[in-house]
Amino acid sequence: MKRKIKKIINIGDVSIGGGKPVLIQSMTNTDTRDAGATVAQIKESESAGCDIIRVSFFDMDCVGNIPEIKDKTTIPLVADIHFDHKLAIACIEAGADNVRINPGNIGKAEKVREVVKAAAERNIPIRVGVNAGSLRPELYDKYGGPTTGAMMEDLERQIGMIEDFGYDNLVIAAKSSDIDMMIAVNRLMDEKYDYPMHLGLTEAGTVFSGTIKSSAAMGILLHEGIGDTIRYSLTGDPVKEVEAARVLLRAMGLHKKGLNIISCPTCGRTRIDIIGIANELERRTAGMDINLDVAIMGCGVNGPNEAKHADLGIAGGDGKALIFKKGSIVKTVSEDKALEELLHMINEMTRGD
Ligand code: SF4
Repeated sequence: MKRKIKKIINIGDVSIGGGKPVLIQSMTNTDTRDAGATVAQIKESESAGCDIIRVSFFDMDCVGNIPEIKDKTTIPLVADIHFDHKLAIACIEAGADNVRINPGNIGKAEKVREVVKAAAERNIPIRVGVNAGSLRPELYDKYGGPTTGAMMEDLERQIGMIEDFGYDNLVIAAKSSDIDMMIAVNRLMDEKYDYPMHLGLTEAGTVFSGTIKSSAAMGILLHEGIGDTIRYSLTGDPVKEVEAARVLLRAMGLHKKGLNIISCPTCGRTRIDIIGIANELERRTAGMDINLDVAIMGCGVNGPNEAKHADLGIAGGDGKALIFKKGSIVKTVSEDKALEELLHMINEMTRGD
């Protein structure tokens, strides 16, 4: 898969575009006026592997918490602003690394100009984000609803306005909850613009169905080389968004962080608790900065070959498991020792033992 090369944009101390690795974004769902809760949630997302965090700033009390949030967290902060250009300017002045605005709801062009001026003074990128649910009202009439054409027209107008003010430090995004529309508008954006693109299926749904829908939409675009940052918009814990993003990027070869678990679906031949071992292994290695393929296989049909080709693996027998490392059987352990042995070996390999 060949990545599309876009202009490089710096967000805090990370860079996107230019063929750099696709980064994971998530968004807090705490009340931003509660700095402690917001910091705690950002730290959880950081630990899970989040690269960039977006936070809603909806009043000046929230904005007052930016120094504390920045002080106690390490990943770049994207301030999400709607309606009020003064909030956007205040966030930039308070140290946000990026502001996400929807110029269509900021109001008069003069207000957008003031935001652009503040961003330019500090070289802060602006993410121009349109969403099918909040296009300019006249576009719904013109297009008969939130269509790909309506989204594109809104985006072109917004980007054009900021470019006319002489600013091109931009990241762009267009989100829809409709998979076809989201893919179509992002393909058009990719053809037209050199700015790095943030992908997301907006309002995707619950953790289970939203993960599947988002993976379908973003997977297609990523496979075409489109996308520089991704977000799963799930109705749930933001950590789940980060975990889903990690798995997608790892599975597509776009990310080298994390355990790639290859595990069999189990069947009538299975004689050890493969489901328990695979799930517990995933839980206990979540967020670890490792790059290993681990095969968890139930029996001798496909097990030995999958296990041989992974970095580590087990092939189950009757109450026991063969353990493979880099293609060779290194030991046989009883079922109850299999998980701990794998974790021990993963730790050894991570340390380079
Ligand atoms: S590896 Fe063995 S236990 Fe697992 S699904 Fe295949 S045949 Fe069944």
